[in-house]
Amino acid sequence: MIRVNPHYQKLQASYLFADIAQRVRAFQQRRPDAELIRLGIGDVTEPLPPACVTAFHAAVDDLTRTESFRGYGPEQGYGFLREAIARHDFQARGAQIDADEIFVSDGAKCDVGNFQELFATDIRVAIPDPVYPVYVDTNVMAGRTGAVVHERYEGLVYLPCTADNGYVPQIPDAPVDLAYLCSPNNPTGATMTRGELQTWVDWARAHRALILFDAAYEAFIRDDALPHSIYEIPGAREVAIEFRSYSKTAGFTGVRCAYTVVPRDCMAWQAGGEAVALHALWNRRHTTKFNGVSYPVQRAAEAVYTPEGQQQVRALTDGYLRNAQAIRAGLQALGLPCTGGDNSPYIWVDTGRDAWEFFDLLLEKAAVVCTPGAGFGRCGQHHVRISAFNSYANVKAAMQRIAQALA
Ligand SMILES: *Cc1c(COP(=O)(O)O)cnc(C)c1O
Repeated sequence: MIRVNPHYQKLQASYLFADIAQRVRAFQQRRPDAELIRLGIGDVTEPLPPACVTAFHAAVDDLTRTESFRGYGPEQGYGFLREAIARHDFQARGAQIDADEIFVSDGAKCDVGNFQELFATDIRVAIPDPVYPVYVDTNVMAGRTGAVVHERYEGLVYLPCTADNGYVPQIPDAPVDLAYLCSPNNPTGATMTRGELQTWVDWARAHRALILFDAAYEAFIRDDALPHSIYEIPGAREVAIEFRSYSKTAGFTGVRCAYTVVPRDCMAWQAGGEAVALHALWNRRHTTKFNGVSYPVQRAAEAVYTPEGQQQVRALTDGYLRNAQAIRAGLQALGLPCTGGDNSPYIWVDTGRDAWEFFDLLLEKAAVVCTPGAGFGRCGQHHVRISAFNSYANVKAAMQRIAQALA
């Protein structure tokens, strides 16, 4: 008898997006003439930067000629891309990261989900609330939790992110070995300052803990005082893994390219106290279970670092940030407290009522779709996430309709 992994049985079915789709469908049947504006999605809407497209095409042509054909590449990524990443994303900001500490992959979702494989099942894990659900569910699948009680898994340490702490996770009182941080944050749009990150790094060093730092939205940071990488923080090389992605940076959600930084100084410990380098472990895992990102995709990602690529990526993210500003300003003018939207494409809105009630109000009265915060954790029950991934014209129209609906 083939037995199922019992931990999968603990997973809570996520009805969030199915529930949204169902309410939207019912609305469209009732109001077939209403022009729906979707501000709920976590996917980009603008096409690829032209510099990436040109490099992508040229690399496909390389594959058509025997002299320039490439089969399997290095599992960790081609040197041309790893070196460009180390130079532009880290060394240029004073962060000492070498090319051989970069592992190129086909997504930050898989990397941040897979990384926990390197640790014992009985480590203690801290998760912000609200949160990108991947961090939680992959630890449930791995058997690190009990069942769900009152919407939370037993065995996890939750870090509430509320207006009281500026939506920034605080150091837990309970003992913790692994903490997930995401800045700029999905879903709240909140960012962590240098000082806040330094507190976390100091905590991790004092407790021989590790931070998994998700920086998928790094390209949206405009405030010069904010760190772009956790490795800008002294001491982080010993206690932090960073995840980056070209998905939101350069519109690669369908193309698929990302990378993970594993500094050679990061350790985990055997039961007897001997240190094991995470770089060696992740290299072993990555080369065993992954066979590299396609060559044309890596060339397209490399083009992000050319002068034209940098300028085009900037224009792309500037466009989404302009939307975010319009959303945030519009909602605040209506008296709704918001966070995010200034260094992030997400705005987290305190609706002051049940999130589904607010969702229905926007849908029925404004034909605008948002995402109820309860789907990201218990702390999101009175919040909605509004996304800037749409056209400026649609965002302006949506804000006018919302203003009328809430008047
Ligand atoms: C979109 C997103 C990612 C990126 O995922 P990819 O698999 O690289 O597309 C990672 N983390 C968060 C929080 C995200 O929202």
